[in-house]
Amino acid sequence: MSPDVLEKLVSLCKRRGFIFQSSEIYGGAGSVWDYGPLGVELKKNLKDRWWHAMVRARDDIEGLDAAILMHPRVWEASGHVAGFTDPLVDCKACKARFRADQVAQAQCPRKPSRHPGEFADCQLTEPRLFNLMFKTFMGPVEDSAAVVYLRPETAQGIYVNFLNVQQATRQKVPFGIAQIGKAFRNEITPGNFIFRTREFEQMEMQFFVDPGQPSGGRTDMEWFEYWKEQRLQWHLALGLERDRLQFHQHTERELAHYARAAFDVQFDFGGTLGFQEIEGVHHRGDFDLSQHQQFSGKRLEYLDQPANRRYVPFVIETSVGADRTLLAVLVNGYREEAVEGEEEGRTVLRILPSLAPIKAGVFPLVKKDGMPEFAEKLAADLRPHFPVFHDESGAIGRRYRRQDEVGTPFCLTVDGQTMTDGTVTVRDRDTLTQERVAADRVREYVTRRLSA
Ligand code: ATP
Repeated sequence: MSPDVLEKLVSLCKRRGFIFQSSEIYGGAGSVWDYGPLGVELKKNLKDRWWHAMVRARDDIEGLDAAILMHPRVWEASGHVAGFTDPLVDCKACKARFRADQVAQAQCPRKPSRHPGEFADCQLTEPRLFNLMFKTFMGPVEDSAAVVYLRPETAQGIYVNFLNVQQATRQKVPFGIAQIGKAFRNEITPGNFIFRTREFEQMEMQFFVDPGQPSGGRTDMEWFEYWKEQRLQWHLALGLERDRLQFHQHTERELAHYARAAFDVQFDFGGTLGFQEIEGVHHRGDFDLSQHQQFSGKRLEYLDQPANRRYVPFVIETSVGADRTLLAVLVNGYREEAVEGEEEGRTVLRILPSLAPIKAGVFPLVKKDGMPEFAEKLAADLRPHFPVFHDESGAIGRRYRRQDEVGTPFCLTVDGQTMTDGTVTVRDRDTLTQERVAADRVREYVTRRLSA
């Protein structure tokens, strides 16, 4: 994404109520963002889409909503207490802190055109490990026994509930558990708007498979390939362009010691960011369940009754960021376009209609001759079925532009003809074509187009 587009998106998101900087009136909280009225709808639509694809539409995945605060031993077992770290160097001269592996790209706070270490008096320390988990205390006493963490990923809530869910639902391997929830990481170099933040939402699914023999007709590696493909298709169905998506296979160096294979789904954000991870698909072996078994002293084995075998399943994980994917959707859909016959161009968010926060704008052409009342009633009739925005102020062209900018797929205009034959014009955001539809058929028309 060119800095230009990112800046424009930040401004559009603020102006139109998608995303605000957290605690802005106090100067802002570092890399934390609030979703405004339109943003919360867009994000909800995105999460609903994931939930539908991963949970509702399948009989082999169950949903879960585990708590953010967990027993601190969870994070020892998972390896986060010891290993969820970034190496940091401090500069004793300017007191700034940098990620050791990114010093060459970092800016010196004394002169942003220079990198740390380039001034004669820079004093960079040896790298030290910095844990990215936020710590807090459970209960009234602030001592080391009361330390708990804000979860840095949602997955551990799934692992510790593996048997609860399996026994409650009587699912048989292969099956999955999915959840959507907040995660927190004290990132050293957050930034690029909502790309890397300290509080974010993840949509994660852990799929449990037989480690030794095919389950559900596939081996563990075949399940891994299956989920890679499923997740790519999901991103394509979101409307992300094919040539902006690619897989990145983790190299030997990137691969976690327990992982058998890992691929990232990357999206091309353009500009200096280029291709970046939006989702990880990981074959985690039996690492997580075995660790929790060892640390908790509780068996986390699956009993395959017909075969009378007990085993710790392998896990295939799909982990996608809701905020980062939302940014991909915005970058992918943002356009500045010339409009034939008009001097001023338009800014339009070409996002999937089912993701759009507002589905239809409803406008009376002019504020007289019964048009405002007709439009108001039409909006009221449609509102229980999908979000509509009723607007009667300003020139009609301006009202269209305001809806284009927030991605509203349809604009319904009540004009003189409506008052005689009961039809309204339906303007399509992408093609700009207008067709007349009977007002009492508009609900069905829009609903049909939204599900396409
Ligand atoms: P990165 O390398 O970008 O830090 P990661 O490999 O640590 O990401 P995972 O732990 O695999 O990320 O998390 C899965 C997904 O969660 C990522 O693909 C991303 O979409 C999202 N995510 C992770 N960290 C952040 C963050 N700080 N801000 C926003 N989204 C994030």
